[in-house]
Amino acid sequence: RMKELAELDKKHYLHPTTPVKAHFEQGPPIIVSEGKGIYIKDVNGEEYIDGMSMLWNVNLGHGQKELAQAAQEQMSKLAYSSSFFGNSHERAIELAEKLATLTPGDLNVVFYTSGGSESNDSAFKLARYYWKVKGEPNRTKIIGLERAYHGTTLGATSATGMTEFQNFVNAKAPDFFHAKAHQTNCELGDKSDPNYEGCIRDIVEKEGPETIAAVVLEPVQGAGGVFFPPEGYLQAVRKLCDEFGILMITDEVITGFGRTGKMFGVNNWDVVPDLMTVAKGITSGYSQLGAVIMKEKIRDELVKSDDVLFHGFTYSGHPTACAVALKNLEIIERDNIVANAKNMEAVLKEGLKYLEEKHKTVTKTRALGLLAAFELYEDPESGKRFDPSFLAAHKLVDECFDRKLILRTAEWDGDNIIAIAPALIVNKQEVENIISIIDDSLTAFEKKLG
Ligand code: PLP
Repeated sequence: RMKELAELDKKHYLHPTTPVKAHFEQGPPIIVSEGKGIYIKDVNGEEYIDGMSMLWNVNLGHGQKELAQAAQEQMSKLAYSSSFFGNSHERAIELAEKLATLTPGDLNVVFYTSGGSESNDSAFKLARYYWKVKGEPNRTKIIGLERAYHGTTLGATSATGMTEFQNFVNAKAPDFFHAKAHQTNCELGDKSDPNYEGCIRDIVEKEGPETIAAVVLEPVQGAGGVFFPPEGYLQAVRKLCDEFGILMITDEVITGFGRTGKMFGVNNWDVVPDLMTVAKGITSGYSQLGAVIMKEKIRDELVKSDDVLFHGFTYSGHPTACAVALKNLEIIERDNIVANAKNMEAVLKEGLKYLEEKHKTVTKTRALGLLAAFELYEDPESGKRFDPSFLAAHKLVDECFDRKLILRTAEWDGDNIIAIAPALIVNKQEVENIISIIDDSLTAFEKKLG
């Protein structure tokens, strides 16, 4: 069965974010057919631990019957209804109210999409439209960070800071800039900071604040390599945006709904953005949904115009997706999922510390909630990296895969980062199993180094 499907896959299926040639030659490494909790099974019945919640999204784990049931009930009653021309339906309204209560500050107004990229594109367009209605139509520029990932629609990919994604589109959308990531002192206005050139503040000053619509950033950079901002960084960006009247957009597509041990990533630093984008964890991946959640002041500006909001998707506020999201959020609260993510952070950190002490190539271990990573260096002490062509992180992840654990790499700019992000329902024993498999995989990896 596996062989037959693999051949059909190679023949007919162009995969997203996949090396095309290698895939065409080798076919899929795994063909998944079912899942339960943190486990998935392939078509041959072989079981794996999903150490990444797939794409950091299956936060309640696989096989949650209650979510399937919520979808079935809604589909049977009203599978789809449009939200164009002001039409509305129960689930979209209920979910908007729920999101308003969960998000910090006065982030009380919701615009629905079908995923993270659409949410970010929508946030950029809504931010620009806000300035247009406000009488400052020249505020069009969006500043993102290097190594950021915001998705792959044209706007989102232009905001994305990883050069590989930018180079894929040889005609980027205009008016997107990339600042140095996570440079605190320069954002605080310290011009003597050697990082000043190219930091957000420097770009704002050079371009002119009256041309900047928004700054966009992930509270914790995910795909770029699981980078936590230094203490004070998010607050400094908030202050900088306030100083110049720039809108602050935080991309909570990964960090939203408990991943970092708080309901939202920004809650770790008590920052309230002007717009927040979410997707993934809003339904735990059981249905395709995203949203832009904005401060009331944004909507209060938009209502000053008689114009139509010429932006929307057929599936904006899809009833089935909204019903799944409502059930997902109900379970997150009922089962104290966010607290579990925080509690498991301690177990994960202890395990990572053990790996760092035991294995000579492991360094820079880190975790916030269940968003974690470590790095491989040829010699961490002297800072000597592996030759990028050696693909160290890839090799280790392959060792883990051979031992039935699925993890993910971030190999940008010569880094060898391995990300770990299990479902938020993971228990202590399961976290320890994950660490134990990584431990064995590292032993095998280092043995081959000689
Ligand atoms: N923003 C962040 C931080 C992400 O990690 C992702 C996806 O991984 C996206 C946006 C894009 O979301 P989607 O793939 O649902 O369009």
